[in-house]
Amino acid sequence: MPSQQRTVLLAAPRSFCAGVDRAIEIVEQALALRGGPIYVRKQIVHNTHVVADLEDRGAVFVDELDAVPDGATVVFSAHGVSPAVRSEADRRGLAVIDATCPLVAKVHTEARRFAGRGDTLLLIGHSGHEEVEGTLGEAPGQTVLVESVEDVAEVEVPNPKRVSYLTQTTLAVDETAGIVAALRDRFPALRGPSSEDICYATTNRQDALSAIAGECDLVLVVGSANSSNSQRLVELARRQGTPAHLIDDAGDIQPAWLSGVATIGLTAGASAPPGLVEDVIDHLAPATVVEHEVTREKVRFELPAPLR
Ligand code: SF4
Repeated sequence: MPSQQRTVLLAAPRSFCAGVDRAIEIVEQALALRGGPIYVRKQIVHNTHVVADLEDRGAVFVDELDAVPDGATVVFSAHGVSPAVRSEADRRGLAVIDATCPLVAKVHTEARRFAGRGDTLLLIGHSGHEEVEGTLGEAPGQTVLVESVEDVAEVEVPNPKRVSYLTQTTLAVDETAGIVAALRDRFPALRGPSSEDICYATTNRQDALSAIAGECDLVLVVGSANSSNSQRLVELARRQGTPAHLIDDAGDIQPAWLSGVATIGLTAGASAPPGLVEDVIDHLAPATVVEHEVTREKVRFELPAPLR
């Protein structure tokens, strides 16, 4: 199929969410106000292009605080940190700027509240993800990680009447509902957050892709491999029966994927810059680009006090 006959269906919303915008702006402002180097614990957001760009401008990304010199400025990433990391930064006298997304911070607050009333916390999420490590750290002795419906049968709690669940913010909405339902079957007294922990941006990007994936021969999701919400978009398209690939940028597109393809669905995870989507459209050079918007996002988060 020549590109001149192809259509790109563009999912909207896509790309940066308010939490990612804020986290990037925090590093940019810190560099502008304090000069480099500014240390950032972990990737500020899970995107290789964002990280490389900030590195070029003086940000130094480290895995742990022991790589940060005493007295230096360190930014905590959008995914949040455990209380142990905050204490360590205090003890070391580091100047902390916290880029934790307010919607991740909300989950931490819930974890403290649920643990404080004596519940076991059933945290639905992916093992090893930085956000999960941070949330687990709020009540490590009282939290059990649940990754799948299959895990639910194995969960052991001291008192089945004192259980609460929380979720990672970037999960698949439909799969998570299945896990919560299985937990509720097993623990009828299960309590949860007053509003969903899966954030508005994750939900909207999944809804937007759901609306077009069935009409597409192929779905391309712009995002990095360690981006949870981008990976969930790829899985969602595949569950709807459409072949889908995660690409860091246009250079990852393999010509063989496009063979016989008339309609390409295009979206991007919440940590992927909008410019990369434009590059993909330029690369595909389709006859038509049709944007399908399911909702308009107006969420903005303020910068932390030291940078306002
Ligand atoms: S994906 Fe959601 S939780 Fe994560 S930074 Fe964006 S708004 Fe915050």
